[in-house]
Amino acid sequence: MKTPTQTHAIDFDSAKLQRLGFGQPSLLPIRRPASIAQLRQQLGLHLQTSLEPERILGLFFREVQRLVPLDALHYRHEASDLRLEFGHRGHHSVSYTLSHEGEHLGELIFRRNQRLVEEELGQLESLLATLLYPMRNALLYRAATRSALRDPLTETGNRIAMDQTLQREIDMARRHLSPLSLLMLDIDHFKKINDTHGHAAGDNVLRAVAGAIKSQLRNVDMVFRFGGEEFLILLSNTGREAAAMVGERLRQAAQAQDYWADGTRIELTVSLGCSTLLAAETADSLLRRADNALYVAKREGRNRLAMAG
Ligand code: GH3
Ligand code: MG
Ligand code: MG
Repeated sequence: MKTPTQTHAIDFDSAKLQRLGFGQPSLLPIRRPASIAQLRQQLGLHLQTSLEPERILGLFFREVQRLVPLDALHYRHEASDLRLEFGHRGHHSVSYTLSHEGEHLGELIFRRNQRLVEEELGQLESLLATLLYPMRNALLYRAATRSALRDPLTETGNRIAMDQTLQREIDMARRHLSPLSLLMLDIDHFKKINDTHGHAAGDNVLRAVAGAIKSQLRNVDMVFRFGGEEFLILLSNTGREAAAMVGERLRQAAQAQDYWADGTRIELTVSLGCSTLLAAETADSLLRRADNALYVAKREGRNRLAMAG
């Protein structure tokens, strides 16, 4: 059965803000001014206390229900790879595209088993305006922190991201008693590529290797550029044997990738070291064991994977 969907676009241009009563509350043509004005004022105060989209929308979903009962709220912002869901499914839905001065701020879908009536839609739209600045600030903040955590050349996580994620994953593995493995990948004889074809060609190869790695993984957020031509791959919920299989797959994918410089195809291989988290082990120790294994792989002839003892 098809779910009925009503779609609306909300562009918070100045006229709309005026009409919604921002700046001039006296113009509000609303039937229950006391409660909606109160709600708007409270939301206005509360929502600006956070820069986390999840918290802002969670608060909004909870508070809005004092006026308009809802079953669910879904939020999507493709550009920042953000999808949030609150509540359960509802049969009827109404969707709003939020934008401000040409800037896309995401799509909101309200769901409810009972159809939303016109008056409720008006109330929702009025309350939606309280999301404008908090969500815009949260998305800007998110974009800024994300770019501070990325390596621009290879579009992988940088060292800061890696440190944060590794510690978080170790804590999670401990709490859930789940395995965690780590792969350290280093390009073989990379210096020769730079020396023969130049630094720019080397950069292209780095990008291509990162692409080959990411194409093999479900969670690309777990790939980090660890050093010049070294990458670190975190494998949550993955034990030693499964990690060895992933490592071998990465080795083959990196070798199979086409690399070009000065119009000719370059042969390229990578070596990998793999370690799996031990009880009570620190992040440093886990990294050190993967690095030692990588060293063994290099010593034993490169283009191979070595497992930490
Ligand atoms: P091995 O097989 O033992 O790993 O040899 P290798 O040549 O790959 O390793 P080595 O550590 O001797 O050299 C790594 C080179 O990577 C040296 C450095 O100039 C180069 N490099 C590091 N970062 C970058 C970068 O961002 N771009 C380019 N083009 N080269 C880089
Ligand atoms: Mg290296
Ligand atoms: Mg190398």
